[in-house]
Amino acid sequence: HHRSNYTGRFAPSPTGPLHQGSLVAAMASFLDARAHQGSWLVRIEDVDEGRSVPGAADNILALLRTLGMDWDGEVVWQSRRKALYQAAADKLGAHLYPCGCNRREIADSRLGTAPDGSAIYPGTCRHGLGPGKTMRSLRVRVPDPAHPAEEPGDAGNAGNAGKADNADNAGQTDDAGNTDLIAFTDRFAGHVAQHLATESGDFVLKRADGFWAYQLAVVVDDAQQGVSDVVRGADLIDSTPRQIYLQQLLGVPTPRYLHVPVVRNADGEKLSKQTGALAVAPGDERQALEALHAAAAFLQLPVAQARASSVGAFWQAAIPAWADRIGLSSAGA
Ligand code: GLU
Repeated sequence: HHRSNYTGRFAPSPTGPLHQGSLVAAMASFLDARAHQGSWLVRIEDVDEGRSVPGAADNILALLRTLGMDWDGEVVWQSRRKALYQAAADKLGAHLYPCGCNRREIADSRLGTAPDGSAIYPGTCRHGLGPGKTMRSLRVRVPDPAHPAEEPGDAGNAGNAGKADNADNAGQTDDAGNTDLIAFTDRFAGHVAQHLATESGDFVLKRADGFWAYQLAVVVDDAQQGVSDVVRGADLIDSTPRQIYLQQLLGVPTPRYLHVPVVRNADGEKLSKQTGALAVAPGDERQALEALHAAAAFLQLPVAQARASSVGAFWQAAIPAWADRIGLSSAGA
């Protein structure tokens, strides 16, 4: 490995056992890294310490080993990286503001919900905590839809300093002159665009429970770890514009993105940690092969014909199949 500039990662939240959906995301990310002869990192996203389940991370890591998905370098744990998140928040400076609103107050403003289900914030505390309010969370301002970017003073290198490589439109406007549009080209889904003002609103970076938000942690970590390629489930595609916006404010590069379709059950529901847990005991190669073949079938990788007899043989077939799929020649790999 390590013969290219490619760095990928798998970033599971240790809220339960690895499930079929997360295996598909992990597999796509692993295959993409190996097909590019890149490195592949594992990061435990236990930033939301309230939801972390003791033992879940170790279980996920043991399963990855059984599945033959060997990562490069040391596993990184978000719960141990708070100083990095604080430093990023300090750098964001006046782009952040304290918010004293609770969920009920935000829901009552009826601006609707962002695609990920969070209520769109009406901006109540944008210009200072309302009367009688105390700080609950820290939010980041998104640009107003029809106005040039606010200049909230001296906030480091915010602006175009980190002009994103892979964002289509850093700091530009759409046809209607709106300045809050973030667009990027997803390697699977193609062109994706989101108006932050109306589809997200100012979003939380530090939560009322005191934990840093996923959106901040993921951007800080992807940048700090030099991640060039994010391959993950399509359930996160609606978060990507917010992450690109934070990358722009922090002056760090935007990775390439590939969001793979989400595994659903027969009723079209997303699998949960409860319903989709992988039936693989650490060390059981036969079960591991079953799970790998099921995930490869979901990704429509032609490895079924030559049904692999070992985990090593599976990857030997799957890596060139993925390389073919994405149009990479596997010759010389
Ligand atoms: N920790 C997230 C999850 O398990 C994934 C985050 C990411 O890949 O950006 O859903």
